[in-house]
Amino acid sequence: MSSFTESEERLTLRKEVTRLASTYGREYFTRCARNGEKTTDLWLAIGKAGYLGINIPEEYGGGGGGIGDVAAVCEELAAQGCPLLMMVVSPAICGTVISRFGTEEQKRKWLPGICDGTETMAFAITEPDAGTNSHNITTTARPDGDEWLLKGQKIYISGVDEAKNVLVVARAEDAKTGKLKPCLFVVPTDAAGFDFTPIPMEIVSPELQFQVFIDDVRLPADALVGNQDAGLVQLFAGLNPERIMAASFSTGLARYALDRATEYVKGREVFGAPIGSHQGIAHPLAQSKIEIELARLMTQKAAALYEAGDDIGAGEAANMAKYAAAEAACDAADRAVQSHGGNGITQEYGVAGLLVAARAGRIAPVSREMILNFVGMHSLGLPKSY
Ligand SMILES: Cc1cc2nc3c(=O)[nH]c(=O)nc-3n(C[C@H](O)[C@H](O)[C@H](O)COP(=O)(O)OP(=O)(O)OC[C@H]3O[C@@H](n4cnc5c(N)ncnc54)[C@H](O)[C@@H]3O)c2cc1C
Repeated sequence: MSSFTESEERLTLRKEVTRLASTYGREYFTRCARNGEKTTDLWLAIGKAGYLGINIPEEYGGGGGGIGDVAAVCEELAAQGCPLLMMVVSPAICGTVISRFGTEEQKRKWLPGICDGTETMAFAITEPDAGTNSHNITTTARPDGDEWLLKGQKIYISGVDEAKNVLVVARAEDAKTGKLKPCLFVVPTDAAGFDFTPIPMEIVSPELQFQVFIDDVRLPADALVGNQDAGLVQLFAGLNPERIMAASFSTGLARYALDRATEYVKGREVFGAPIGSHQGIAHPLAQSKIEIELARLMTQKAAALYEAGDDIGAGEAANMAKYAAAEAACDAADRAVQSHGGNGITQEYGVAGLLVAARAGRIAPVSREMILNFVGMHSLGLPKSY
């Protein structure tokens, strides 16, 4: 293996996931989305095969691999037309935070279900009034004897209906300073006072987004993940995995769009030759191929740095990868639609449905503007702009 290629093991993993995902494929994914059904079969199948928790330590039901492994799983699923947002959330954000900071008991309680897919965990930080500025969240956690009382609201939370628990970011009062600091709580979705309602979205996906209402939800002491005084550090630990996974989600989606376009332009003839012979069609697709490969390379670099324990290096690379991947996905989806002409807008060919999913990658989990702010400030040393 050279330093610019993935290991044999990783390449085999990609092939195995491709094989499994292709038995489901885009038609299955779209059918579930349009019929209001869930992709639970696929989710449990990847759990059973050991791919879902491949990044989680073996003693808790995982595969003992790294973020690069679970990112490869996410990418290959999307490349087969099954982009699963909950891959980003459950094993990568929640799984990472709990594996790194949970108590032994918490790890035993929550990680095995995250790995086999039976206890999916959603993640809730975004609030209607705070938006991108997550320092302004107002969901609060109040100690009440040995227990906690949680109160607040969240928005755009993915997959709450499919989750057994949600890792909720709330603020608790610091006993010494009296200031509010972020803490992480695992909240069961069937807890009294926990309510959620779907937000009608334009994305063609079986995974939905929800508004969440938390009305004096009572939690036991051990719902607090890790250390009450280290909430921010724990939260940041989940950010690099989140960005690496979001990048993989986008590069997988981009590959799927490009594959559809390439296949179509090889076969479609209107001036006596395949439309792919015209440079006006071929060049944008070639551009997409280059942009996708560049984004994949940066994603793999970010994963390698993260696995090597270089959190700062991984932070820069993960942000850059996430930016490049989202841009590549938006362009690939748009070019796939254009290559299909009128067929690009039909449900039969299903490429227009990729546009909004790809577009979401420019907004969530962190927007392109916030990545540009990060690079301006940290990579270029420019003054903080917000
Ligand atoms: C499909 C989808 C799934 C999601 N899933 C989850 C989830 O599971 N859990 C969760 O917690 N959240 C989730 N989110 C929320 C997502 O993380 C937020 O939408 C995102 O962080 C942006 O916040 P906002 O929508 O409030 O936009 P706003 O903060 O209102 O921003 C609007 C626009 O202004 C720009 N902007 C804001 N501040 C600045 C600045 N200082 N400089 C430059 N530009 C700026 C932003 O980049 C953006 O383009 C999801 C969102 C989507 C679309």
